[in-house]
Amino acid sequence: MEEKNIPEEEGKKPSLNFIEEIIEGDIANGKNGGRVHTRFPPEPNGYLHIGHAKSICLNFGIGQKYHGKTNLRFDDTNPAKEDTEYVDAIRDDIHWLGFDWDGEYYASDYFDQLYQWAVQMIKNGRAYVDDLSQEEASEYRGVPTKPATPSPYRDRSVEENLDLFERMRKGEFPNGAKTLRAKGDLSSPNMHMRDPFMYRIIHQEHHRTGNKWCIYPMYDYAHGQSDSIEGITHSICTLEFEVHRPLYDWFIKTLNIHAPQQIEFARLNLSYTVMSKRKLLQLVQEKHVSGWDDPRMPTICGLRRRGYTPESIRLFAEKIGVAKRDNVIDVSLLEWCVREDLNKKAQRVMVVMNPVKVVIDNYPEGQVEELDAVNNPEDETMGMRKVKFSRELYIEREDFMENPPKKFFRLSPGTEVRLRYAYFITCTSVEKDTEGNITTLHCTYDPASRGGNSPDGRKVKSTIHWVSAPHALDVEVRVFDRLFATPAPDEVEEGKTFLDNLNPESLQVLPHCKAEAFLQGFEKKPLAHFQFERMGYFSIDPDSEKENRLIFNKTVGLKDTWAKISDKA
Ligand code: ATP
Ligand code: MG
Repeated sequence: MEEKNIPEEEGKKPSLNFIEEIIEGDIANGKNGGRVHTRFPPEPNGYLHIGHAKSICLNFGIGQKYHGKTNLRFDDTNPAKEDTEYVDAIRDDIHWLGFDWDGEYYASDYFDQLYQWAVQMIKNGRAYVDDLSQEEASEYRGVPTKPATPSPYRDRSVEENLDLFERMRKGEFPNGAKTLRAKGDLSSPNMHMRDPFMYRIIHQEHHRTGNKWCIYPMYDYAHGQSDSIEGITHSICTLEFEVHRPLYDWFIKTLNIHAPQQIEFARLNLSYTVMSKRKLLQLVQEKHVSGWDDPRMPTICGLRRRGYTPESIRLFAEKIGVAKRDNVIDVSLLEWCVREDLNKKAQRVMVVMNPVKVVIDNYPEGQVEELDAVNNPEDETMGMRKVKFSRELYIEREDFMENPPKKFFRLSPGTEVRLRYAYFITCTSVEKDTEGNITTLHCTYDPASRGGNSPDGRKVKSTIHWVSAPHALDVEVRVFDRLFATPAPDEVEEGKTFLDNLNPESLQVLPHCKAEAFLQGFEKKPLAHFQFERMGYFSIDPDSEKENRLIFNKTVGLKDTWAKISDKA
């Protein structure tokens, strides 16, 4: 059994989080006819990360819990950054996490409707075409403590506005030349209410609407209306949108359409991780990682390739809960969650990562035995397997010391250890090359200890894993450390960037590991999970299939060594 450093709150009835409290209140009051309808609204401008997973689990979780619905809506209002590659990846990732959406929608589905509503707002004197540049507009907006200066274009007639807006749509003006703005409240202390932008000109092909449009709605104008069109009841988003809420409500009220309720929660921040898509994209583009699915990335596809399971990520989302205030979650909690899940599921195997040869001098040459090994002590139904034993084996170089310190209980000259599932062996001598490196350990075995059982009650202080040399498979193992060397990689001194915090030793490739024959054929089973006994959890990298050889990624160690190291530091 592994150490559980995070106590289970067993026996406690799970209390409601604050969003569930709001929802249960709404159901009790018959709001929206008791209906619950959420949505997950990614912008298809990058791959999803573990922060999005939190939002996915929350939105889909609520949909399920209250027998409601959850939509997937792509917030595709900025053609400059978006792409169908991202749309496909997002769909895959959500399915992989174990969720399915009721409706799949795109903000771009609503471009016609949004345009009509904008025209309606112009007709009602609630919107105008502005010629101020972005910089000018922000100067006019001023500071929260003093009312804004109205744009000189604010009082254009309805006819002029209708004409200009129509011509914006037709493509008569270059990018940035004009915008459509709502007539908000110029004295509001909330800057978002000071004549918010509704449309901007972007002459760029859109991945779905092609060249139909060259004006695109702003987030604030598109998001709430999209929610409303879909009949969303609870529009759950992250805290930075709290200051946008009055505007969200204002557009809905001005248009007199169905009013979803926006509820904000704290976004997930993880130590040793950056989460902004812009930064993740930079890591990919500048080749600091091998791609969006590099096992060191906090993306869902990266975690998947690393060997994380959907269950482990859902467990993580459950453990972190839903908070109203920003905080940073220690990445070791995520690692704890995957260990917890894989401990129950992973097939155990023996793999020697840094091999040294052992010859059992008193074992008959040419003899091969098949010994019984347990597939998973946590799950009897996974059964047993046979492991081949012979005169020549590999063990971990670190499991032997020629001149051991007092507390070293593994193999050393004259000491006896147990080979897991096999025999007790004693080291008798050491062979070295001309440079003094150990090449072979000579040992004797006790035939009476077959199965690893003590023949006469004598004890050995340790059990080590091994692989029979003639039967061993050559495998590559990729071992990862944190991608960033500092707990808050976004925090940087003047003149530095988050890239300066990259950990130069985050990837280690071990090309010559030795694995037991059981693993033969698994190169065709990408992402299959294993526990390498004593070493940690590993999974088959998808490169294995392409290259027709076994390549493993280390998912996580058996214990939280990092916490110990950083405690000492
Ligand atoms: P980023 O800042 O990483 O680019 P984003 O907020 O722009 O993320 P979107 O695609 O707009 O990314 O996000 C889709 C949904 O996921 C939004 O509702 C957003 O609030 C939520 N989300 C994004 N990042 C996190 C996070 N770190 N924790 C929780 N929810 C998040
Ligand atoms: Mg966004």
